[in-house]
Amino acid sequence: MPAFVKFWGTRGSIPTPALWTRVYGGNTSCVEIRMDDTLFICDAGSGIRELGKDLLTRNPVPNELHLFLTHTHWDHIQGFPFFVPAYRAATRMRIYGPAAGDDSRYQLLSGQMASDYFPVAFGEMGAKITPEFLTGGEKKINGVRVRSFPLNHPGSCCGYIFEKGGVKIVYATDNELPIQSGDRFPDLQHTGGLRQMPASLIEAVQDADLLITDAQYDDLQYVTKRGWGHSSCNSVTDLAIKAKVKNLALFHHDPESTDRDLDAKAVSCQKRAAKHNADVIVFCAREGVELKF
Ligand SMILES: [Zn+2]
Ligand SMILES: [Zn+2]
Repeated sequence: MPAFVKFWGTRGSIPTPALWTRVYGGNTSCVEIRMDDTLFICDAGSGIRELGKDLLTRNPVPNELHLFLTHTHWDHIQGFPFFVPAYRAATRMRIYGPAAGDDSRYQLLSGQMASDYFPVAFGEMGAKITPEFLTGGEKKINGVRVRSFPLNHPGSCCGYIFEKGGVKIVYATDNELPIQSGDRFPDLQHTGGLRQMPASLIEAVQDADLLITDAQYDDLQYVTKRGWGHSSCNSVTDLAIKAKVKNLALFHHDPESTDRDLDAKAVSCQKRAAKHNADVIVFCAREGVELKF
């Protein structure tokens, strides 16, 4: 089995536990990606707490962990102090930033455990935790090629590409795909053409077996949220179609979106793909779902 993906947190902005979010889940961003025996964790939102508990039940308990942070907004780091494997002496945890020598994400992640915020200091967690870098935006980790690429989001943010054995998985949140002049917007009935997309982004996600990406809004929600750093699901679907992505996971769900809203969003994007005769499978990422490639 070359690749395995599990969603541990799919919500954006803030944890949203509620009766009306119990299908898709209320935990913030955290995705587990395994390629053969190498375990990657994308973001440390509140979903990482459950992942940590699960890791301790595995046989053997994985000691080597690679954490990739897209950025350090709260919903992407807030679960880290509750990640139990970070308190085990046997754990060796590497935390990656996108550029050589730039350990600012590591500093911001550890800084949230200053005594005014949390009772346990980062340095007292017990695991061996080190900052790592993707020199030149790329690194080989146990035969997995990992690359980073920039995303359009307030502050510094990047996505990550994981490739091994012909399988390509892309994790790209948070990201705003702006509406360009000439694009039909809003396009509730999907009667417009595919929206314009940056060539560099198409290239980054080209032919991915799975693209997990920010689709926080639908077109109607995006009308009032332009410039907030998140995308409409219609734009994201167009990106996937243009790049011939095979599976598209709509991710970073808005805290205001109910399970019913998300069901409707997935159906709408599936219609959009069908209107453009695209083969891409579109679905809303759901906490607890596992995928194999
Ligand atoms: Zn976020
Ligand atoms: Zn953010």
